[in-house]
Amino acid sequence: LTELFIPTKSITNEQLSTYCETLSYITTDFKHALHSDNHRLSYDLLNNEQCKSFSGLTKHQIQQLATEYNLNEENIFLFYTKCNTDNSDFLLSQVFGIPDTSISRHINQSIEDLFNNLVTDQMGPTTWDRKNIDMHTPMFAKELLQVNVQNIVICMDSFPIYIEKPGDFTLQKLTWSSQTLRNCIKFHCITTLDGTFVGIQGGYGATGHNNEESIINSLTNDKYAIDNDDDDNIYHNHMAQTLFFKKILKNNDILILDRGYTRMNKRQYQIKIPPSIDKGKTQLSTKQANESRLVTFHRNVVERAIGRLKKWKLLKNRVVHQYVVKLDKIVSTLASTINKFDEPLYKNFSKKNKHVKLILEHINDSENELKYLMDKNQNNYWQLTAKNLEEIIDFVTNTNYLPKYTPSKIESISTGCYAMKLSKRYFTNSIDHMKIYEHQSIENCIKVVGINSRFSSGIKHCSILKFYPRKPEDTKFYCSCKSGARTTNPCAHALSVLMLIQSIQKELPHLKLAKTTIDYSDAIKNEYSSSHYQAIYNNIIDCEWIAKCWTCHELYHPSCIGQDQEKIDAIIDKWKCPYCQEDDDNK
Ligand SMILES: [Zn+2]
Ligand SMILES: [Zn+2]
Ligand SMILES: [Zn+2]
Repeated sequence: LTELFIPTKSITNEQLSTYCETLSYITTDFKHALHSDNHRLSYDLLNNEQCKSFSGLTKHQIQQLATEYNLNEENIFLFYTKCNTDNSDFLLSQVFGIPDTSISRHINQSIEDLFNNLVTDQMGPTTWDRKNIDMHTPMFAKELLQVNVQNIVICMDSFPIYIEKPGDFTLQKLTWSSQTLRNCIKFHCITTLDGTFVGIQGGYGATGHNNEESIINSLTNDKYAIDNDDDDNIYHNHMAQTLFFKKILKNNDILILDRGYTRMNKRQYQIKIPPSIDKGKTQLSTKQANESRLVTFHRNVVERAIGRLKKWKLLKNRVVHQYVVKLDKIVSTLASTINKFDEPLYKNFSKKNKHVKLILEHINDSENELKYLMDKNQNNYWQLTAKNLEEIIDFVTNTNYLPKYTPSKIESISTGCYAMKLSKRYFTNSIDHMKIYEHQSIENCIKVVGINSRFSSGIKHCSILKFYPRKPEDTKFYCSCKSGARTTNPCAHALSVLMLIQSIQKELPHLKLAKTTIDYSDAIKNEYSSSHYQAIYNNIIDCEWIAKCWTCHELYHPSCIGQDQEKIDAIIDKWKCPYCQEDDDNK
């Protein structure tokens, strides 16, 4: 067991078996609730949709799996129902009138069967080749990343799954994650840029040693190849998992990663990681900020793929002993199920394609042309034009060089809806403190100061915007914040100014009609609960809420890093991702 402390070695089933005790999780309440003479459900009686509400798959899909791999339909149904509902075996046995010892036997059989058939089909080493990966790379991604025809591009990330506290002390230690303060098993996944799973590696212990960096270093370590294949080799599983890196990836292939991989060894690949700020600087350079935006734009796909995987309740909740043993097979099976039955995440590219053009136009900018206007020597040129909301409304109403903005225009300027979501917070919290300055010699150029948010520790940002009256999409922007130098799309602060302008442009006619004493601030805030905005935000919730790290500005799904959305939300302006937190802890 001491071997397990070596980072990045997979935990094998044999090692886990020490704590695979059979435990009963049934409370007596349950037993009383389910009288033995109750009507039992039968799989045969379920229709297509009912079947889906239990198992997450339609009856047709289950039949398809059963026929294709010559398996028992009902057993497959029980396995997916277990994963989809995370009900105890006992409860399932009561509902379906099957003895609970048979339930776990059926489920375990399905895990083995599906792992040997479905997973081999969807993620096995012979399934994926370079051509296949290329076919799963959307055109917009190839364009943006300027991928050479002879190279391929993939995304990788790791994610923890909570497990019940192991009885064995060594395993307790090995699976203890100081980031989440829970026992976890970590998995690593590779996806194509349309969100299809290429492979799942792990499980690994969740100690600090097993970070992305050590995992990837071991996966790309050639020494594992010459390792012999005797049966006692506890890394057996692991060796198969390194095949992808040895057989498929070639020099100069592009890996899209997050900052957890910053210090990885293998540099024969083109590594795309969001850059961090240079020493002594407070802001990313224009090039870095644009690059960062580009990486985040694509990295989002692996976050969403992991989010999809965690829609299976079994993986979202704490996994009980009995299934921890098979967790690697379960995770691979569910990922393969997503590959088989769900649409790729990016099937309809039309929206993305629109954004791509805009990003490509600016991706090679070396300098933000508005940046110098923030210098002290410019102070004399800035004249205060509006110092409170009343005056801001006047300014927006009476200034004819401001283009007409609509939510979809703003969404297009922001090349997606994520920044819009973030800007909402800045907008509603700053509206009472913002001031507008106009530049005296540069045409149509304003500076907005006092953009802050509710939880902010006093940090206020300042955005400069330059307008082109008939071309809202040409609006230029610069901001004092960390990524404010980028030119591909505005930061959330600059965007919140556009939101403010749009709100005033849209709301004012109504306000005047009403002719009552109106709380402008409220009226504008209300705009944000309008149905169009709601639709945009729902869209974001659909692809899950995303938290932005205060230090590196990376976006993370709380679930992917094993954190709680509400807890993050409460400290969002000071929230640091686990990687930045780790950097801090190491200082
Ligand atoms: Zn900003
Ligand atoms: Zn961070
Ligand atoms: Zn993630």
